[in-house]
Amino acid sequence: MTDCLFCRIAAREVPADVVAESAEAVAFRDINAQAPTHVLVVPKQHYPDAAALARADPALLGAVFRLAADVAQSEGVVDDGYRLVANTGDAAGQTVHHLHVHVLGGRAMGWPPG
Ligand code: 5GP
Ligand code: ZN
Repeated sequence: MTDCLFCRIAAREVPADVVAESAEAVAFRDINAQAPTHVLVVPKQHYPDAAALARADPALLGAVFRLAADVAQSEGVVDDGYRLVANTGDAAGQTVHHLHVHVLGGRAMGWPPG
């Protein structure tokens, strides 16, 4: 059994509030939401970060972004706008080393991020 938290959520071995799923990816609400909409989109296959996935399987990265777009639509944040974030490495605060795209929306977000 893998000890990767997001592999285990994608395999439904660890419970999560799943809001959408495709053949390639799963979307679930962040346990510590930073915005009214805060959903994480992960590929079902394990890749440590976006760079690794882009190099190994760019079509799968596209499928992750496709599900993120669908989630933004179903969450009703498209008209106002939303943010997609893929923290990569320690300085960016990546804590789970299985690629995940944060879908953040429902409030105004400043730029640049802190
Ligand atoms: P990172 O900082 O790596 O970009 O983001 C990891 C995210 O995963 C954090 O926003 C954190 O709140 C979320 N997270 C950590 N553990 C769990 C969990 O067990 N379930 C869910 N749904 N989210 C989690
Ligand atoms: Zn994993």
